[in-house]
Order: sequence, then C-alpha cells, then structure tokens
Amino acid sequence: MIRGDHAVTAATVAEYYNQATELISADLGGSLHFGYWRGLPENSSMQDASRQMTELMISKLPVGPGQRVLDVGCGAGRPAADLSSATGASVVGVDISPRQIELATQLAETEGLQDKLAFRIADVMSLPFEANTLDAAWLFESMFHMPDQSRVLEEISRVLRPGGTLAIANLVQRVALTEEQNAALEAYWKVGNVAALLPLEDYPKLLNDSGLVLTELTDISEDTTRPTFDAIGRTHASRAEGHTESLAPGELASQMDAGMSQFIATPEIGFAIIVASKPS
Ligand code: SAH
Repeated sequence: MIRGDHAVTAATVAEYYNQATELISADLGGSLHFGYWRGLPENSSMQDASRQMTELMISKLPVGPGQRVLDVGCGAGRPAADLSSATGASVVGVDISPRQIELATQLAETEGLQDKLAFRIADVMSLPFEANTLDAAWLFESMFHMPDQSRVLEEISRVLRPGGTLAIANLVQRVALTEEQNAALEAYWKVGNVAALLPLEDYPKLLNDSGLVLTELTDISEDTTRPTFDAIGRTHASRAEGHTESLAPGELASQMDAGMSQFIATPEIGFAIIVASKPS
C-alpha cells in the first residue's frame, strides 16, 4: 500500500478525468494507458506501443462470439472496441467518469459497434450486474485509482461466472517503497488520484481472499514503464522546441509534470500483468 493524507474518492477521480483526460492522452499518444514496447522496432510510436499493450491484454482473455466481457474503468472505450473487434465478444464497460462514458458511447457509434458494446456510469464498488453472469473481466490500468482493492476484486469475483477470467494491467511496487520514497511521491499520488499501489507480492493472497486464483503474475516494467517514460520525455522535448502543439499551460499540467518527474525517478515503481480465474 502507499500511505498519504490525500483522499481518493469516486468524485475526485471523476473530476480528475473531466479535467486531465486531454493532458494524459497527449502524453500517452492518444490513449489512456502505458505502452508495451517489447519487440517493437526502434522508431515505434507511443500509439504502436499502446496498441500492443491492448493486444497483450486481449491475449489474456479466452473469449469469443456470444460471450460477454466486463471492462472496469473503461475510459474512452478504445480498448473495449479493440477487444470486441478482435474476439467477437460483447463488451460492457463501466466508468465513474460521465465524460468517459460519453466518449466511449460516441466511439461505439462511430465504429458501428453499438450491438457489441455498451457503456454505463457505475462505480466498481457496486457493480450493476447479477452474480455469475459475465464470462471475463479486465481492469486495464484503472485499479490504482480504487481505494478498497479487496472490495474491487470481491465485486468482480461476484459477477464473473465460475471458470471466468480476470486480467489486470496495473502499476505496482516492484520492491516495497521506503517511507522517504513514499513521502517524495505524495504530491504525485494526490494530483494523479492514485489510491493504492500494491507490492507485486501482495497479489496472490489478495486474489485468493476474493475468491479468485492467480494464474499469471508478470513484471513487464522493462518493456512498459521505462520506454513509456522515455517516449513522454521525447514528446515534452518536442513540445518545448515548438515541433508539437503545446497544450494550454495550467496549474494542473505543471503539477502533473512535477509529479511525473518524481515518479520517473523511482524505478521501484513498475508495471505488471496479473491474470486470475474464478474456480469452476
Ligand atoms: N481502461 C482505459 C482507461 C484507463 S484510465 C484504457 O486503458 O484506456 C482509468 C479509468 O478508470 C478512468 O476512466 C477512471 O474514471 C476509471 N475509474 C477509476 N476509479 C473507478 C471506479 N471506482 N469505478 C469505475 N471506474 C473507475
């Protein structure tokens, strides 16, 4: 766990995504998650890496036509659309940010995927689905915003059918952070609405206590956080030189940049793919 005196609630996260979506996606090549750079050619873009991260997540869910997947913290809907197009499964996305749900709904229409995709405003703490009804679920870079990590997994475990799969892509502590590191990162936790960032080693028990069984735990930091931070650095440099359009400077943008620098300077923070299943 991380400590801190900041309170992250559904309301602060929703407000954060109302204000910061453009800033975050400008850094992340139009997406709202880190890139996965493994095996990509040298000059690959953040977009290529972001797409490859989605492909990696899709490969963890054994679903197909006629099945239904829950996307928890679906954001603007790009990953859900890609998941449905790749597998033929239907995807239902939930998010606490009304703005994200609006964007996701628009995307489904633009891509003609209305019969496969449905999006609704909901908090993961209380999912609007019957028990044992969904074939799979994912938490795609959303779990660190959620204050009660046990409750998140218990809710997802409740709605998954027996034999269903959960895939998680999340920021983690590769090695437990020291008090000093935690204190130095407090400003970032606050501006980024980071509620919890668990040590990797906590996941097996956490999943088990929620009725799920861990099937994979892979630290992908070397191919994810490091190269993504390098790419963000290149974007910032190009912006500073005037090659890329500058975003309106503002207090939130400078707080986010300052926090991000501290984050980048802490290699103990990394990224993992975690897969679990609900016993049959
Ligand atoms: N999965 C998307 C978006 C990642 S950003 C993608 O990969 O592109 C994280 C998202 O999680 C945000 O849209 C945020 O609003 C959502 N989120 C955070 N806390 C949540 C909660 N308690 N319930 C539902 N969604 C939440």
